[in-house]
Amino acid sequence: ADLTELNWSKAPCRFCGTGCSIMVATKAGRVVATHGDSKAEVNRGLNCVKGYFLSKIMYGEDRLTQPLLRKTNGVYDKEGEFTPVSWDEAFDIMAEKWKATLKEKGPKGIGMFGSGQWTVWEGYAASKLMKAGFRSNNIDPNARHCMASAVAGFMRTFGIDEPMGCYDDFENADAFVLWGSNMAEMHPILWTRIADRKFSHPHVKVAVLSTFKHRSFDLADIPMVFTPQTDLVLLNYIANYLIQNDAVNHDFVGKHVNFRLGNPDIGYGLRPEHPLEQAAENADKAGGSSEMTFEEFATYVEPYTLEYAAEMSGVPAERIEEMAKLYADPDTKVMSLWTMGVNQHTRGVWVNNMIYNIHLLTGKISTPGNSPFSLTGQPSACGTAREVGTFSHRLPADLLVANEEHRRFSEKIWKIPEGTIPGKVGAHAVLQNRLLKDSKINCYWVQVNNNMQAAPNMMEEGLPGYRNPDNFIVVSDAYPTVTAEAADLILPTAMWVEKEGAYGNAERRTQFWHQLVDAPGESMSDLWQLVEFSKRFTTDEVWDAELLEANPEFKGKTLYEVLYKNGQVDAFPIEEASPDNANHEAEAFGFYIQKGLFEEYAQFGRGHGHDLAPFDVYHKERGLRWPVVDGKETQWRFKEGSDPYAKPGSDYDFYGHPDGRARIFALPFEPAPEVPDEEYPYWLSTGRVLEHWHSGSMTQRVPELYKAVPDALCYMHPDDAKEQGLRRGSEVRVSSRRGEIITRIETKGRNKPPRGLVFVPWFDASQLINKVTLDATDPISKQTDFKKCAVKIEPV
Ligand code: SF4
Repeated sequence: ADLTELNWSKAPCRFCGTGCSIMVATKAGRVVATHGDSKAEVNRGLNCVKGYFLSKIMYGEDRLTQPLLRKTNGVYDKEGEFTPVSWDEAFDIMAEKWKATLKEKGPKGIGMFGSGQWTVWEGYAASKLMKAGFRSNNIDPNARHCMASAVAGFMRTFGIDEPMGCYDDFENADAFVLWGSNMAEMHPILWTRIADRKFSHPHVKVAVLSTFKHRSFDLADIPMVFTPQTDLVLLNYIANYLIQNDAVNHDFVGKHVNFRLGNPDIGYGLRPEHPLEQAAENADKAGGSSEMTFEEFATYVEPYTLEYAAEMSGVPAERIEEMAKLYADPDTKVMSLWTMGVNQHTRGVWVNNMIYNIHLLTGKISTPGNSPFSLTGQPSACGTAREVGTFSHRLPADLLVANEEHRRFSEKIWKIPEGTIPGKVGAHAVLQNRLLKDSKINCYWVQVNNNMQAAPNMMEEGLPGYRNPDNFIVVSDAYPTVTAEAADLILPTAMWVEKEGAYGNAERRTQFWHQLVDAPGESMSDLWQLVEFSKRFTTDEVWDAELLEANPEFKGKTLYEVLYKNGQVDAFPIEEASPDNANHEAEAFGFYIQKGLFEEYAQFGRGHGHDLAPFDVYHKERGLRWPVVDGKETQWRFKEGSDPYAKPGSDYDFYGHPDGRARIFALPFEPAPEVPDEEYPYWLSTGRVLEHWHSGSMTQRVPELYKAVPDALCYMHPDDAKEQGLRRGSEVRVSSRRGEIITRIETKGRNKPPRGLVFVPWFDASQLINKVTLDATDPISKQTDFKKCAVKIEPV
């Protein structure tokens, strides 16, 4: 190809939270090539195989191009066939259903589910529409299934969300400990940075913990396969080891840390009548946590001896001790890394807290190479799902709906009447499915995710809600996913560089891109859909009389006028948008809406530890890590000299908590809610594969990626297979107390489970493993445990 004919522009990758920067080539209105951006600090010109094929994700044969409504004989019918309709007709029926539900049930009758795949301004616009427009906090992102435990972990230990370190830690650490993360497949570009560091610095050690062997074990000096749930024991053992071996940094601990007895928080977030819930024995519902001394903490972890840790986890004692020594050695800089192995856990928040415990005990934090680092799965899990406040309990910049001061502050920025935002926490992801099934939520809008494939126990607690005749379900997507097929109305949606966007990656880096091509047919962006829909409602229809009587100037206004054309979001003229690029949303609304939303949103964080640079800066830079103060990004938060918020003379300042101190929590081991027994003798763990991103709705449509890994398989130990009369390729039924799938056995290959555990990836829509998984959640974060439940394997 003649490369001079191509137009090249930058964009972050559409897939994972690594946030690689990509150079995107367009020609004649199509994306024709991509390659890693050599100017990008994150990936230095590299892509993983998914990034390599980005140019093909938008061109699947079954791309949706028109709104589709279920109809019979020309009228809407829940059991009807999907029939093309105009956008007007689509919004008409949506508005009719929303208005009827709001009238009958009020704001609690509607709900929305999004994700960290929304651009920053899409998530912000959605949250604003729900919380300020419809006055409902029933909005949640699928980060609930992904990062909620990490968020709660940060908030409890540091009082502020997101990692204190950055990717520069990879080039500075002497040891890497993976606590439940297969980075070789899930964050392959970051894995290349670890591999580079290890191969060029022979003293560097890699420890890998998991409940089964996977590709990251190839680089492991200290490989550890542990019994599910016993990470809680291993972490307490390390704390005990540090204390017993005089490896605590008492100067750091004395100045910068407080100790807390963690509250027990009962229950698994299942339905109250569920036997597991009834069996939850811990009766202390008091909540909160009480202070304790270092000595009391030392006594608390004392029972977690090496012998106990080895016995419980099944990991040889010498390996566990070798790992503990990495943390204990004052000259070894340690980076701990984790994703879903830690977060998708009924005690995910505790595991997050306990990893911070060991970094805080040793003072190995917030300096180059000393870094407890929570990795993200979605491209904007941080930038959108967390930072703009799309969780049912949050507002932008870590503010909370339950906090009156935070609501007042948000209402001021949004220029809406005091008392508009409801103070009750909305329904989280798993609860939303149950409320749909129980006809408590009747109107539901899903954007940028594939919930039917991603949600747990979805045949019992997911699909029935979508197909409930009382409910009207809308799904915005680019492709007919299993979620779209379960809906009543499908809205065809522009994706990635078909719109202007911004994502925030795992190291607090905000990255922008321009619209580079048009979306096919009548597809429109999520942002356009949200804002256009807001025009269909007036305050008189959705706000109560009391609020309007107290604020008559809002009477009769459309939600569009209140939320978006409010003198602030519409402050930037369309001329400020790039003259070289299309911008369909700016053209549709007549102002630079993305800039207006971003600048309004940025008001929440500026001066409050989440400072973002001015909008236009990001179109020039390869991203900047917040807080950005006086044009300078921040690499290590909480450290004086690096973080502009750390007080002079403080050395470290954990300013998320009013006392400037981080918290060490005393937390116990607790058994998993469901363990293998005679009837269901195997542990099941689920996860991803390198070639497919999440539910595979994009990567399964790239022929090369599809052919590389076409189907999910059940990875099993060869001796377990033999014992059951199975062999590689045998067709089997994997079943739990909730559901079953038919798949094939794999006894070789990239994942090597120990005896008694099987692993099935969840990317394959033809084998929905989430029919089988348990919908038990962490009681604090409400995040589901997809990593362990009990199953049986039978030949078909
Ligand atoms: Fe980078 Fe992740 Fe995209 Fe791969 S999928 S290119 S690691 S951002």
